[in-house]
Formats: sequence, C-alpha cells, structure tokens
Amino acid sequence: MKKWVIAILTVVLVIILGVAIGFFIGNQEVEESPESLDDKVLAQQNQHELEVVNELSIATSGQDEKTTPSTKWLLKTTYNDCGHTIEEKQDIPTMYVNLTKEELKEKLEKEWDIEEFSKDQVVLSRYQHGICKEHYVLREKDGYIAIYTLNQYDQEEFLEMTEISVQYLPELDVENLKKGIQVTGKKELNETIEDYE
Ligand SMILES: [Zn+2]
Repeated sequence: MKKWVIAILTVVLVIILGVAIGFFIGNQEVEESPESLDDKVLAQQNQHELEVVNELSIATSGQDEKTTPSTKWLLKTTYNDCGHTIEEKQDIPTMYVNLTKEELKEKLEKEWDIEEFSKDQVVLSRYQHGICKEHYVLREKDGYIAIYTLNQYDQEEFLEMTEISVQYLPELDVENLKKGIQVTGKKELNETIEDYE
C-alpha cells in the first residue's frame, strides 16, 4: 500500500476510535448521573427524617413543651351561684404563644388556673360570682310570649319577642307565663318555646 493510503486509514481509525470512546464515556455519564441524583435525594430524605425524629423527641421530652400558634385554647368558667360551667374555645392569644407551663402561669391573671397543659391544648379554669348567661325567663308581654335573660345579678333583661300569642293557650300556661317560666340553656329554651307553638 502506498504511504498516503495508510496515513488516511490511520486518521479515519483514530477518528472512529475517538468517537467510539467519546460515545462510551458520554453514555456512562448519562447512566451514572441519575444514580448519583437518586443518592443525593435519598441522602437528603434521610437527613430530613433524622430531623423530624429529632423534633419529635424534643416535643415529647415533656418539661420544656411550649405553646404554639395552633395550640387549642379552652376557657372554663364556673359560676358560684348557679354552679354551671361555661366552656369557651378561642384562638390562643399571641402573647401566650411559645411559653412553657411555668412561663404561662406567670403571665396569666391570677383568677385563672391551668387545668391542662400540652402543646396541643391548654385548658384554663376559673370561678366567678353570680350566675352564667344561660338562664332565660319566658313571660307574657303585650299578648305574646317574650324572652328575657337573667344577668349576673339575677335581674331580668328583655331579649326578644316571639310570634306566639298567649290568646289561645290553656289558662294554666297563661298563669305560669305571668309568673315567669325559668329555663336553662338554649336547648331547653327552644324546646319550651316549641311546646307553645
Ligand atoms: Zn347557670
């Protein structure tokens, strides 16, 4: 063979070899990269799980448990004169967020006792003089049944009129309505009114 033919063949061979090697390496990289990505994601997940586990162990460690913005806030007031306990669910006031039980105790007004304390729920209770707001009186007014509430001093305050006329009620009911019929709670109030309808 002539020298130039050998030279061209060599060049062609080198080019083919180069392309083949390049292709092989490129392929390897493509195949490798998803694996290394997976590894990274896996490592990150493990790290995340580790952090979650750490948070959990901190949260359940007890003493240092603190209130959060999502802590349920339940207020219980017991009224001395009627003995009823009124429960009130509220959003936790921001000034009481991120406090331990001891810190909360210091910040609260003296009337409140901490009945329950966890990061999920805080229950506060107190006693008050007088009667609760759940006391109603039904009374005849201008020929109709009217609803009054009893305030904390046991005095009647007009709340609203019903559309129930006393005109066709039995005599005994009319007598009772003149004296005033006391009921406790909205449920009993509604049931009593329905009886007259
Ligand atoms: Zn009451």
